[in-house]
Order: sequence, then structure tokens, then C-alpha cells
Amino acid sequence: MENKKQVAVGEEEAEEARAQVEIWQYVFGFTPMAVVKCALELRIPDVLEAHGGAMTHSDLSAALGCSPSVLRRIMRYLVHRRIFSHHHHQESSLIGYSLTPLSRLLLKYRLPAINDTTTTNNTSSLAPLLMFESSPVMLAPWHRLSARALDTRASPFAAAHGGDIWAYVAANPSHSKLLDDAMSCHASLFVSTITQCYPEAFQGLSSVVDVGGGDGTALRVLTAAFPAIRGINLDLPHVVSEAPPSEGIEHVAGDMFQMVPKADAAFLMWVLHDWNDEECIQILSKCREAIPKGRGKVIVAEAVISDQHVSEEDSKYEDVRLALDMVMLAHTETGKERTLQEWDYVIKQAGFTSYTVKHIESVVSIIEAYP
Ligand code: SAH
Repeated sequence: MENKKQVAVGEEEAEEARAQVEIWQYVFGFTPMAVVKCALELRIPDVLEAHGGAMTHSDLSAALGCSPSVLRRIMRYLVHRRIFSHHHHQESSLIGYSLTPLSRLLLKYRLPAINDTTTTNNTSSLAPLLMFESSPVMLAPWHRLSARALDTRASPFAAAHGGDIWAYVAANPSHSKLLDDAMSCHASLFVSTITQCYPEAFQGLSSVVDVGGGDGTALRVLTAAFPAIRGINLDLPHVVSEAPPSEGIEHVAGDMFQMVPKADAAFLMWVLHDWNDEECIQILSKCREAIPKGRGKVIVAEAVISDQHVSEEDSKYEDVRLALDMVMLAHTETGKERTLQEWDYVIKQAGFTSYTVKHIESVVSIIEAYP
């Protein structure tokens, strides 16, 4: 008995000691994002990549045109966070910086033009997503999150910018480009993952309509893997007008609440989470009407929030999924991430008779719904 009590006290003390350290992550929580953004603006990952091997501090400062002393402090922080690594050269006592797996995911934040063959199109960079989320436009609504909790109609994004995000990007082409590039880098990463881990989702299809498909990146990656698939990319006029033309893909400007072009399958990635249940039911119903009754399907790529305690293994991405739900609160009018039970509701209400869920190593899962 006494022993158990001692263990409990010991655990409590350890928990308190952990808290003393952990609390600082919240006080300065913004720092990692801000400093990585700074590294991207300075193009540090790309310069190290172009250099080939480890780069000395003086070479790096010269290449970037940076103050060596300020850069040294920035690099010390980023090395500590494992964004870069450094090695001391014994004889010369020089420091050499190198890329790490983390900074390899941050290469080339300016996506190469579609027919630019001088740069390799890095399909696994999340740099554009980081540049988008850390932009002043997307950060401003976070200061108004508590207002949303007090009044659900108080939109943090609208309070900061006078309208919803779709109206904002329609009126601001440079922010629209930032959004499209951000979505495109995730689409490229994720669709490559599906084509490798779960190609069955797309096998046998002759046409796919990507509803809210942005600049068409998902379809470009998909049709490269499945040349038999004809792609139709549906998005709002201001997005489609900037989408690069691609062989085998037809861009259609339209409103998914009004019309979805016909195809064997409709694909919806990171679209339904922008909307509430009634809106999702409307979009899904339009998709159901667009596909053939007997053999058509709707493929939804979205996060599925766990409604029970998740194991360490499964929780790898759970933190990101829950953060994404906060992003939806801050950036959309009615959007949210959903549990399986919440997905079940919108899918059934939209008139689908069955569905399957495939979890893959990713933030998002694949839900296939059948009419
Ligand atoms: N599916 C893409 C883009 C997701 S962002 C990807 O995952 O990369 C959400 C997309 O929905 C944006 O491209 C936005 O322009 C589009 N969208 C918003 N409202 C829409 C509407 N009413 N009709 C069609 N597309 C819409």
C-alpha cells in the first residue's frame, strides 16, 4: 500500500518536472515555424542541395549574402532541431552543414513551371504548404480563435479579412497562387503515396473527375501512374484559369454545389473538410449523380479522427489530424475534420449504400463510397 503511494507520488513529481520543461514549447511554440520559414526565404535547403556536399559556414554565408554572425545563430537553432546537420572538420576546425531527411522535405519552395526541365520537380516537398500556413494572411485569423468558441458564427478568417477564404483568393491572385501551390505539393505527395500503397483505388477506371482539384496536380500524378485514366479537373473559375494545361486532363470551371461532370469515379481530396455536414451532403449527392450507378464510386481522401484512445503507432499522425481540425476552425467558415461516425453520417445521408475505409501511412485515409 505504502509502496503504491510512493510510486504515485514519484509519478506525479516526474509529471510536474516534465511540465516545467514542456510549458516552454507553448510559450515559444511559434519559433520552429518562423525559423524554418526564414530558412526557406533564404533558400538554405536549395543552396545546400546545389552545393552537393557539406558546406562551410563562410561559403554558406557568402552564397546567401547573409550576415555570418546572424546566420550562425539561425543555423545553430536549425541544427539543434535536426533541420540541418553539421560536422566539425578536424584539421581545419571548420563546420560543414548538410541536409537532413527533414530539410529534404523542404527543397525548392518555388515549384518549377510545368515545362521547366532545368529543375527537378520535387514531389515530396512540403515547403509550399509551410509558406502558405505561415503567411500573414493565414496567421491573422488565429488571433480570433476564442471568438469562434464564444459565437460559432464568428468566423476568424472573415473577421480578419472581411470575407471567406474563397472570396479572398478570388480577389487576391498572389494569395490564390500560394494556396494552389500549397495544395499542389500535398496532392503530389499524397497521390504518389496512394498509387504506391493502394493502387486498387484507381485500377480499372477509365475516367476520374477531381472535384475541387485545384491546379490539377492530383490528376497529373494520377494519370502519369494510370495512363488509361482520362482526368477532368473541376474547380472555381479563378483557379482553373491559372491551371497549367496538361495532356489527358480537361479543366472545367464550375461550382461543385451546382454541377459535377460525369466520370467513372469522383475524387474529393481535402475538399469536404472545408464544409459542414449539410454542405458535404450536397457535394456528395452531386458526385453520386455524376457517376454510373452500378460500377461508379466516390473516392474521398480526408483525415479520419480517432474517436478512441490511439496507440503510439497509430498516433503518429493523430497530432497532425487534430491540428488540422483547429486549422479548419481558424480558416474556414464551417469546416471540420471528422471521426468515422461523422463520415458515416454524411455518406449515408448523401444516398450511398456502402463504403470502405483504407488507412495508409499518411495524415489522410481513403474512403470509397458506392451508390
Ligand atoms: N483537392 C485539392 C485542393 C484542395 S483545396 C488538393 O487536395 O490539392 C479546396 C479546393 O476547393 C480549392 O481548390 C478551391 O478552389 C475549391 N473549391 C472551393 N469551393 C468550390 C466550389 N464551390 N466548386 C468547386 N471547387 C471549389
